[in-house]
Amino acid sequence: MIVAGMNMMLVTRCLIALPAITQTMAREECFQDFQGQTMCIQLISRWTRPPLPYPFSIYEPQGQDVGNAPHHTFSDENQKVDEISESSGVEMDTEAELPKRSTARHKCVACYKQFKRKDHLIEHMKISYHSVHQPKCAVCQKLSKSFESLREHLTGPLSKAHCSGIFSDRGCNLCMNIFDSPSSLIKHKEACSLSAPVPFEKTLSNAESQKKISGAIDEKRTCRGPKAVAMDCEMVGGGSNGTLDLCARVCLVDEDENVIFHTYVQPQLPVTNYRYEVTGLTEEDIKNAMPLKEVKDKILEILNNGESTGRLMLDGGKARLLVGHGLEHDLDSLRMNYPDHMLRDTAKYRPLMKTNLVSHSLKYLTRTYLGYDIQSGVHDPYEDCVSVMRLYKRFRRQDHQVEEIGNQNTTGSFDSYKYKELEKMSPNELYQISKSDYRCWCLD
Ligand SMILES: [Zn+2]
Ligand SMILES: [Zn+2]
Ligand SMILES: [Zn+2]
Ligand SMILES: [Zn+2]
Repeated sequence: MIVAGMNMMLVTRCLIALPAITQTMAREECFQDFQGQTMCIQLISRWTRPPLPYPFSIYEPQGQDVGNAPHHTFSDENQKVDEISESSGVEMDTEAELPKRSTARHKCVACYKQFKRKDHLIEHMKISYHSVHQPKCAVCQKLSKSFESLREHLTGPLSKAHCSGIFSDRGCNLCMNIFDSPSSLIKHKEACSLSAPVPFEKTLSNAESQKKISGAIDEKRTCRGPKAVAMDCEMVGGGSNGTLDLCARVCLVDEDENVIFHTYVQPQLPVTNYRYEVTGLTEEDIKNAMPLKEVKDKILEILNNGESTGRLMLDGGKARLLVGHGLEHDLDSLRMNYPDHMLRDTAKYRPLMKTNLVSHSLKYLTRTYLGYDIQSGVHDPYEDCVSVMRLYKRFRRQDHQVEEIGNQNTTGSFDSYKYKELEKMSPNELYQISKSDYRCWCLD
């Protein structure tokens, strides 16, 4: 059983599904080491999908918009293994999970999941939207839905031994890339791991700070033509219980982290809670601040950058991309509209979201992908702007091979084939027609 050169040898693995109501899955993993000693560890993992009674379970991977995705039920006992691995919150390495009880398996060339039947692989491909834009393991090339799943694959309790071994040796835990040697990793980390920006008030003279706070636009900077602008709003509370978010401070930053607009904002409704511990704002700050309408006009002037509304709705033209975290909420608080295709939201970018499509906090993203802490005391909108801009630029720089021109259709690529044609395709051909269901920032 023991193969020389392998650290651990997988002997048996078993899956025990606990009663569905607990939504918990217990797994026991047994390994044999070099001395032939068998080691078993029990792993308990949360099964996040509300379970349906098997065999009526519907094939619905977590975190997919399955609105018009094909559903099918399983009648074959062996298929339950496929179903569990597909529906758990974290993508698992099914290749290793599957008992070696059957002969021919249909393997997805992108995520390495295996299926007993070809039609199950086809259904999987239809709803997986595999593409070059998905986070990829630099060791085994496996594609994941999110960086969180890639992290699980490389460092989690169910990680692949080969990949995690190499990663722990010379992998960067921020960008998840792998380097030639531990020393080149150290060199890389100097550039990859960032430190928090200096709060912008401290970098400006008093006069300059006043100018920013009066809401003046620095023409020199806005005309230089950066493609993206980051925005962050600080909210105070309105309404009888103070839970209504009112924008009281807003900051805009260009791609070089220069403040291009900053002002306090006079909310349109009375403030009932200044949330001082978080916002650091007082009545004094807001009393004579810029009215909301004026703030909104100035922001739109910066973002539109002289472009007409019509052009902006179509291809944007010279208008700026708006970068932020939870932009819909910020735009709502400013009573402002900006076209969806011009938004780059770190809370909505698929690879940065949790596997179940819930957003991570900006604090978490900054710590995990940039390597420093923010929002430890009073929130600084400049600091948040810099974080989202750095995240945006980092993921815009991703080097993905761009899909063929003229084949940019993101949905329905499988629908244009007859089922019989799909059945004849090899797993690789199926992957070739698969398209991403989100716009990757590397295309900006
Ligand atoms: Zn797959
Ligand atoms: Zn990409
Ligand atoms: Zn791997
Ligand atoms: Zn890195």
